[in-house]
Amino acid sequence: MTKAKLLLGQTLGFAANPFEAPISEAARHRRRGAILVADGRIVAEDEADTLLAAHPDIPRIDYGDALICAGFIDAHVHYPQTGIIASWGKRLIDWLNAYTFPEEMRFDDPAYAAEIAALYFNLTRAHGVTTMVSYCTIHPESVDAFFTEAQNRGQRVVAGKTCMDRNAPEGLCDTAQSAYDDSKALIGKWHGRDRLSYAITPRFSPTSTPEQLAALGTLWSEHPDCLMQTHLSEQTDEIAWVKSLFPDARDYLDTYEAYGLLGAKGLYGHAIHLEPREKDRLREVGAGLIHCPTSNTFIGSGLFDMKTLMAEGHRVGLATDTGGGSSFSMLRTMAAAYEIAHLRHNSLHAAQLLWLATAGSAKALHMEDRIGNIAPGMEADLVVLDLASTPDIAQRSARANDIWEALFPTIMMGDDRAIRDVWINGTNAPASPL
Ligand SMILES: [Zn+2]
Repeated sequence: MTKAKLLLGQTLGFAANPFEAPISEAARHRRRGAILVADGRIVAEDEADTLLAAHPDIPRIDYGDALICAGFIDAHVHYPQTGIIASWGKRLIDWLNAYTFPEEMRFDDPAYAAEIAALYFNLTRAHGVTTMVSYCTIHPESVDAFFTEAQNRGQRVVAGKTCMDRNAPEGLCDTAQSAYDDSKALIGKWHGRDRLSYAITPRFSPTSTPEQLAALGTLWSEHPDCLMQTHLSEQTDEIAWVKSLFPDARDYLDTYEAYGLLGAKGLYGHAIHLEPREKDRLREVGAGLIHCPTSNTFIGSGLFDMKTLMAEGHRVGLATDTGGGSSFSMLRTMAAAYEIAHLRHNSLHAAQLLWLATAGSAKALHMEDRIGNIAPGMEADLVVLDLASTPDIAQRSARANDIWEALFPTIMMGDDRAIRDVWINGTNAPASPL
C-alpha cells in the first residue's frame, strides 16, 4: 500500500437510509474509530484499537474528538455564479436577468472561467465539499475550465454545458444543433476521464425550444450513462410561464418527459410545487430530486415537501444551488433543510441531514458505490468536523449526551471554522497551483 494513513477520531457512516431504517440501525458511529486510507481509497474502517493493532507501522493522524465522515456532496450548483452570490432583491426570473445572465456572459473568456473555477474549488474545499454537480455556462470553455481544475485536484465532479436557445440574451444563446454538437464533443472530451462525469444540461424549459429539448433528449439516449440535470417547478410564476410556452404539456415535467428528458439518471433541481402526476412519474422512473433549501428561502421559492417525498420513496439529494443559494456551506444547507422541514411540521434528525449531504446525494447521482460513505472500497473523500469550533457551539456540544446532540449544534451554527480537515482522493494536501 502506497501512502497509507490511519485516521483516528470519532467516525460516522451509514449502513442504511435513516429515512427508512431506525437511526440506531442506519448510522454507524464509533466513539473512537479509525479509517485506513491508501491509494485514494478507504481500505478498512473499524474500532481504533483494532486497526492500530493490525497496522502498527502505518503513519497515523489523530483527530481526537473530531468527527470523520464522508466528504459533502453538493448535488446542484452553478459555479459561474460564485461572484454574484448574495445579490439582493430579486425573485427567479428577474434574478436571472439582473444578475445571472450578465455574469455568465463573461465566461466566453477562458481566463476568467479558469479564475472563477479555481476560486470556486478553493471556497468549497474550505467547506468540506468534495463532490459537486455544476451547471457551467453556454460556453464550452466554461466546462473545460471546471473539469481542468477538478482534474488537477483529483476531485470527483459532474458538470455540463448549460443549453439555452431562447429567452436569454443573444450572447448567451446557442441553438438546438450547436447545443447537441457542443455537448456531444464535451462528453467525448471529458466524460469518464479520471473522476470526471458529464451531465447533459438544459437550464430549464423556458430557455429551451422544443427543438433543443428534443436534440438533448436524443443526445441522452445516445449517452445513457451520463446524468442529465435541469430545473423543475421552482416558483409558481415560473410554472405559469412554462404552461404558456408549452400549451400542450400536461404539466411542467411533461415538457421534459415529452422530449426524452425524464429518466433515472435525471437530476431535477428544486421540485417544490409538484403536481400528483409529476410526483408519480418521478418516483416511477427513480429520478433524483435535488433540494436546494438556502436558495428556496433566499429567492423566495417555497417549501420542499421532504416528509411526503421521502415517504413516497423518492430519491432526494441536497444542494446549495450556488449562487441562487446564499451559502457555499453544506452545514448551512443542512440547517436550512431542517428549518424548511420544520415549517412543514417535520423535524429532520441530525442523521437524516448528514445522510442527505453525503450518502443521499451520492445515491441521487448513482454514485453511492463510490462516494458519500465510509466503507472499505469507497473512494477516500472525507471531511473532519470539529464539533466545538466556536465558543457558541462548544458550550452547547459540551452538554451533549450522544453523538447526535453533539453534532446538531455544528449543523445549525457551524461554518468553515468547523472543517478541521478535508481528504480528497486519499490525500489531505491541497492541490498544487496549475
Ligand atoms: Zn440552479
